[in-house]
Amino acid sequence: MNKFERSPRARFIRLGASALLLLSWIGCFAQDSAPAPTTHGVVVANIDKSVKPGDDFFRYANGEWLNRTEIPPDRGSIGVFSALSDLASKRTSTLIEEAAKSNGPAGSNARKIADLYNSYMNEAAIEAKGVTPLQPLLKQIADIRDKKQLAYALGQSLRADVDALNNTNFHTQNLFGLWVAPGFNDSEHYNAYLLQGGLALPDREYYLGNSQHMQEVRTKYEAHISAMLKLAGFTDTDARAKRIVELEHSIAEKHLSLAENDDIHKANNTWTPADFTAKAPGLDWNEYFRGAGLTNQKSFIVWQPTAFTGESALVASAPLESWKDWLAFHTIEYYGGVLPKTFAEERFNFFGKTLTGTPQQRPRWQRGVQVVNQFLGDAVGEIYAQRYFSPKAKAEGQEMVANIIEAFRKRIDALTWMNPATKAEAKAKLDTLYVGIGYPDKWRDYAGYEVKPDDMFGNLQRASTFYYHYQVGRLGKQVDRKEWSMTPQTVNAVNLPLQNALNFPAAILQPPFFDPDAPAATNYGAIGSVIGHEISHTFDTEGSTFDSKGRLRNWWTPEDLKQFEESTNKLALQYDQYKPFPDLSLNGKQTLAENIADVAGVAAAFDGYRASLKGQAAPEANGFNGDQQFFIAYGQNWGSKTREASLRQQVTTDSHSPGEYRADTVRNIDAWYTAFDVKPGEKLYLAPQDRVRIW
Ligand SMILES: [Zn+2]
Repeated sequence: MNKFERSPRARFIRLGASALLLLSWIGCFAQDSAPAPTTHGVVVANIDKSVKPGDDFFRYANGEWLNRTEIPPDRGSIGVFSALSDLASKRTSTLIEEAAKSNGPAGSNARKIADLYNSYMNEAAIEAKGVTPLQPLLKQIADIRDKKQLAYALGQSLRADVDALNNTNFHTQNLFGLWVAPGFNDSEHYNAYLLQGGLALPDREYYLGNSQHMQEVRTKYEAHISAMLKLAGFTDTDARAKRIVELEHSIAEKHLSLAENDDIHKANNTWTPADFTAKAPGLDWNEYFRGAGLTNQKSFIVWQPTAFTGESALVASAPLESWKDWLAFHTIEYYGGVLPKTFAEERFNFFGKTLTGTPQQRPRWQRGVQVVNQFLGDAVGEIYAQRYFSPKAKAEGQEMVANIIEAFRKRIDALTWMNPATKAEAKAKLDTLYVGIGYPDKWRDYAGYEVKPDDMFGNLQRASTFYYHYQVGRLGKQVDRKEWSMTPQTVNAVNLPLQNALNFPAAILQPPFFDPDAPAATNYGAIGSVIGHEISHTFDTEGSTFDSKGRLRNWWTPEDLKQFEESTNKLALQYDQYKPFPDLSLNGKQTLAENIADVAGVAAAFDGYRASLKGQAAPEANGFNGDQQFFIAYGQNWGSKTREASLRQQVTTDSHSPGEYRADTVRNIDAWYTAFDVKPGEKLYLAPQDRVRIW
């Protein structure tokens, strides 16, 4: 939740309700061959000094960059995020290739990385085995004689492959998905959340939508199922494919929509094993939990009760043969990426070309890097962090966080509208907030994951059960609030509401966001404002849902909420005035939570920056004083260029304002007026009483 950029839901990137939009940040420094910038701090070459800061701060900070930058023909926009992402993947692939050559001792992480990567790259070995590795799994399915055995097999297929709040992935093609996380009502211990599943297509809309596009997708999907079954040696594949699509259509009818999934309060449903039989009859739940290895689990949190009732009833009502075909197809699909080329090509034709319009599959080595990142992410991350994130960077990052948290504490104390009990809880949340910088304190232990040379199929199978058993093994145990949900090589950041924690991976903590050799002013202005933005989310209307212990508990009083809404309304009206196009204004309500976080983030980061000076004057650089550097660095965070169609779509559907207006929100900060001597009559000028101060 609150990630800059949400991870793929199913196979799509979807920007989250409170994610900081990074997709359009400027990419002017990160060059693959020369990752270290030659200068530190604000990029003077990007500034357009012919523009008055008070008239158009965005263009002042970024104008020269805007003038000389073209959007590449295959993209809707250009920004720093994509460049940083390319850099991180390139570095990661180098590390993996080095490990692959290093001949590490048996059982070591280096050897595992090497064997996993090489087994994926050894296409000849994969071709030679053909579908042989798949056959025992298909035979088990073929041998299912009744619904009781089916229930056991469905239980065996359960994986910990969904994540409702951290990485926000609601999709699993298994009947249901397990998420192991701190409990809504018992945040001290890991609980078992169960989520709806069973669809191979990304979402129920693909089955239920009536547009011509969706109908075409379904026709091609049916052909794809038939082709996959045929490749695996099945006969009568058209008829089987038809039955599978019909079954998935029925499952889709029971599913909740993505928007409904986001409603946390509807998701807090505790069921005992007996409740499943009573509330969701049909599936033999005893057998299901036995197959899943969950017979000792006393309770579950069921995210979408109606889907469980509906899907369970379908297990009883739909023919056994349809379920067996469905199970066989999903098994083939799951392993499709590590089977001979014909399978991978068939899958790409459907999921790549048809579903996402991507004309070409990425080179195999890139997919290999992705596989290693997925199954041995911490093993790679540990090397990545060692090489690309210095102790100095970590210490500086932590000091920044401490100063920004302290700034928030003072701001909360000074609030006139919040009642004392709510203030106390807000400060308690700050006291217990864990902010991870760069990389975690502890690395995941891969001792239990056996990687064999030239056995990619087995390596995938074992990774899948290793990860599942790891998660199930944690149920009921004490929560480690310092555990990360992202690897250091990820260019992103995340807010983990149930842990009251934030993660800022090493791969985002690099220029232009963060540079240990840059002046404090620019680091606070750039990444400091981002950190402040994320902290603000932990106690805004959304953060008010989870208390200082990560429990699902609304700790705001109704009066606080009323007051908060009154002061934030002013900000919504301010954003309503922005018009990217004559016929299109921003929607101040739709973007409110993010706009609040931006104002709060930059305000707290500014205080933190001032505190970091400990009374000393900030050094000048390139003719700018410290405060000016702070605000320019913040403005340069947001420089971006977007095509009209993309920008229109963003304004219509996104909860984030376009970068230009995010940069211009400095008009709410008094210190900006002093820093640039902004006067009444200049376009961004707001009279002091019109500047919005929330925290
Ligand atoms: Zn946000």
